[in-house]
Amino acid sequence: MWSWSLWSLLLALLFLHKVYSTQDDDTLPRIAVIGAGLGGASSAYFLRQLFGKEVQIDVFEANRVGGRAAVINIDGQDYEAGASIIHKKNRYMAEFASQFNKSDDRLSHSASFIGLYGNSGMVFQTSDWQAVSLAKLLWRYGFDLYTLREWTKHSLISKFERIYEFQDRGMAFTTLEDMLRAMSDSILNMTRHSLQDVLRDAGLSQRFIDELAMAALRNNYGQTTSAHGFVGAVSLIGAESDLWSVRGGNKQIVELLLKESKASLIEAKVTSVILMKDELGTGSIAYEVEYEKTHADPNNNISSREYDIVVVATPVSGTKHRISFIDFPNPMTPFVQDYHTTIAMFVQGRINSTTFKLSHQDEFPTDLFTVSPDLFFNSIGKLSSVNPGSRSEATGQKESAVWKTFLNKVPTEEQINQLFENRSDLRLVDWLAYPEYRPGNDLPPFMLYDRLYYVNAIESAAAAMEISVIGAKNVALLAFNQWHGHFDKIDELHLEIGEEVHAEL
Ligand SMILES: Cc1cc2nc3c(=O)[nH]c(=O)nc-3n(C[C@H](O)[C@H](O)[C@H](O)COP(=O)(O)OP(=O)(O)OC[C@H]3O[C@@H](n4cnc5c(N)ncnc54)[C@H](O)[C@@H]3O)c2cc1C
Repeated sequence: MWSWSLWSLLLALLFLHKVYSTQDDDTLPRIAVIGAGLGGASSAYFLRQLFGKEVQIDVFEANRVGGRAAVINIDGQDYEAGASIIHKKNRYMAEFASQFNKSDDRLSHSASFIGLYGNSGMVFQTSDWQAVSLAKLLWRYGFDLYTLREWTKHSLISKFERIYEFQDRGMAFTTLEDMLRAMSDSILNMTRHSLQDVLRDAGLSQRFIDELAMAALRNNYGQTTSAHGFVGAVSLIGAESDLWSVRGGNKQIVELLLKESKASLIEAKVTSVILMKDELGTGSIAYEVEYEKTHADPNNNISSREYDIVVVATPVSGTKHRISFIDFPNPMTPFVQDYHTTIAMFVQGRINSTTFKLSHQDEFPTDLFTVSPDLFFNSIGKLSSVNPGSRSEATGQKESAVWKTFLNKVPTEEQINQLFENRSDLRLVDWLAYPEYRPGNDLPPFMLYDRLYYVNAIESAAAAMEISVIGAKNVALLAFNQWHGHFDKIDELHLEIGEEVHAEL
């Protein structure tokens, strides 16, 4: 395993090397993007915008376009199986939706009937009446929700949004650490402390931390409030109102970005990225990308192509399709991102009334979140199809509703029966979902080697669709600035005077 100081030194040397060997402005790079999830498709889109229409961009996809944005079909209806919810402040996702005429196709999500469930049963439940719910929240958590709102607004969202200003000015970062530092030192610090510590410092009560914060983290990331504070805060924001998704499925944004990028899609699994020898000693870098075609003759499915720039847009340690990095001066194993397995279980059927002590199915919340770390399931939510209104859509009728349960392990038959009775359908989707968010974990770099970039470094801060796009835009800007020698736009932690100087508050 590389030490990070050694890694930083290598990046600095590569950077200096680039300063003295900038690219001829009219040379066009050949670019490979590995992965056609949101990160890969938006990388291809931004690379096209920056490098222009003549540049060759190949996108490799081993499985299906969309990656973790995917739908599952149950009883003739599609449901979001992975990335489901987009926050109102997610600027890029909103821009894409409007650019692709999907703004009118937004499905809004606001949880109406929420329950918190622990080892000893229901801990808290909202009511059908908004005023009653507010009163109940106030009674149980005092002014915690107000404190949280003010804290997320001033300590998180306003600082996080600085990244848009940097990116609007074409500025990019070689490491995730510097990107977070440019937002604010306090944002970077949040990755070094647990959510519980961060919330305590912000003045939130222990009950709020143990119940609402725990519920949000278990539901969104399958983890507890010992996860780092930044991902925890993102998770709490994801529990706000005014959330939306794209009618027909969020994966359409990925498909449209890929189409708009006019990249060539190569349906193949990349097996290795090989650093080509610079035998003439010119200092120029090139990569050979080896891949196995997905739908080819099994005897003739291995190929390779040469590229000047390679963008890795899949978690390197969180993919079932491992990529080997060959002939680099040192072993390429700098990724200390352990990926968390989340099982999404889709059941069409009835909630078990005995377990949850229901006299009627309607007494069960539409969204049930668990607060006890040793409970075997994290949450159960009633799903709406991505095409509401089409056909009978198992709506309202909790008798035949479709439920999504998140778990950290494949459940036993007995556990499934504990949750559901009379089920007519059951599917399990096994996701390598997001990193394990341990406070103080190393934050990977966006630049793995000269002209070899890593979009999914950003997931070590938090995994979310908007955040993937921010990572993709950073990598596209980094590749462009390095190719053209715009070094003043790399790793500048402050915006220029005259525009707005952001000193740490
Ligand atoms: C269960 C679940 C729920 C989620 N809910 C939300 C949510 O509500 N809101 C939200 O914003 N985010 C959510 N997320 C997170 C969100 O899905 C991710 O942050 C985002 O989709 C990541 O996109 P990506 O392109 O970086 O990675 P991926 O979507 O994983 O794309 C990587 C792609 O690379 C391909 N690939 C991998 N290895 C190779 C190889 N060797 N060669 C070629 N191709 C390869 C894969 O097949 C995949 O298609 C959720 C994630 C999960 C798992």
